[in-house]
Amino acid sequence: MSGGRGTGPAALRDKAAALDATDPLRHCRDLYVPADGLVAYLDGNSLGRPLRATAQRITNLVAHDWGTRLIRSWDEQWMDLPLRLGDRIGEVCLGAAAGQTVVGDSTTVMLYKLLRAAVAAAGPERPEIVVDTENFPTDRYVAQGIADETGARLVWVEPDPAKGVTPDLVEAALTERTGVVLLSHVAYKSAWIADLPEITRRLHDAGALVLWDLCHSVGVVPSDLDEHDVDLAVGCTYKFLGGGPGAPAFGYVAARHHERLRQPIQGWMGHAEPFVMGPDYRPGAGMRGFISGTPPVLGMVGIEDTVDLIESVGLDAVRDKAARLGRFVIESVDELLAGHGVRVTSPLVDEQRGGHVTLAHPRFREVYRELWAQDVVPDFREPDGIRLGLSPLSTSYAEVAEALVRIEALLSAG
Ligand SMILES: *Cc1c(COP(=O)(O)O)cnc(C)c1O
Repeated sequence: MSGGRGTGPAALRDKAAALDATDPLRHCRDLYVPADGLVAYLDGNSLGRPLRATAQRITNLVAHDWGTRLIRSWDEQWMDLPLRLGDRIGEVCLGAAAGQTVVGDSTTVMLYKLLRAAVAAAGPERPEIVVDTENFPTDRYVAQGIADETGARLVWVEPDPAKGVTPDLVEAALTERTGVVLLSHVAYKSAWIADLPEITRRLHDAGALVLWDLCHSVGVVPSDLDEHDVDLAVGCTYKFLGGGPGAPAFGYVAARHHERLRQPIQGWMGHAEPFVMGPDYRPGAGMRGFISGTPPVLGMVGIEDTVDLIESVGLDAVRDKAARLGRFVIESVDELLAGHGVRVTSPLVDEQRGGHVTLAHPRFREVYRELWAQDVVPDFREPDGIRLGLSPLSTSYAEVAEALVRIEALLSAG
């Protein structure tokens, strides 16, 4: 089924070896904690692999910062960690000047805080929130909850699931009553890259605010938030930023909105003077006011290692390898899997596709289970999608080739 010489498994493995040999990021793979017995990890866009430096940093944290310095570490380094780390993510990954990004809370909670703040700022004259049916569940659920809470009305955009939101689709949903538009930069299923600059421009022309979810773009696709006048953004740090399971989110609020936006979870850590412990809440200046409670330090420290690594190789090089890995998948599916009826349900054009490729086949649920049993680890997406996460810093072409060869073997076995 897989054709003759030149298109079979051996040829695919050879091609992968050649691509790995000339990959400018190949040295990065040795920086990760080795995973014994793992054949291929293609889920780094759900949980990124840990760097050795992160393992060391967490060990040091327990032994020194926590173990020895104890409570003194709050003064010495942790109080400012949410802002300092936010600035690093902003600088390296978001194109955001300092003072606009903060780390803390889960993505879900940060999303709630920023969307709720934006809805309040938009005011009663603009009670419509534009959301799309292909966005990640949390984003849709949070928006539904805020609509229930505030009386705002949700206006649904329905994109093609194999693609994503386009400027025209979004524009068609805008009215003079649109307050906030919530969209993902890279779609979690299809990997479609929304045209962030153009969509932001058009909704600003209509007088609305935008909240971009960068969960699947941060650390792999540049967003250049300042340059494109983005109002608000949130994103994950445990996907492409390698922060580890449960690592907190980041939130970005453009400086021009700091005075106007008030987030709803008023906690002591976001207070202008947390240790005065006074009777009333008074938000801290700038992004300090977007902090609620004690930051999850253990989950935060590892993020910095991946951000440092991205800075050292350049985000554009990471982006470039993501595109190449995706192209390799698409070409290989053509050669090896199309005959089995496997379809690519991600954009075929590199410029429109983020850091993963989703394939579809009616038998993929069982194929996926079997792959996991073989230590080949992609993601499954209902109803019939295998999502191949392509983390450019840690993923080799050989891993990708091996996964595709195994998929082919499993489909051939019938
Ligand atoms: C991964 C992801 C989330 C996860 O939210 P958590 O609160 O961290 O569980 C939210 N939104 C999108 C678009 C995601 O891809």
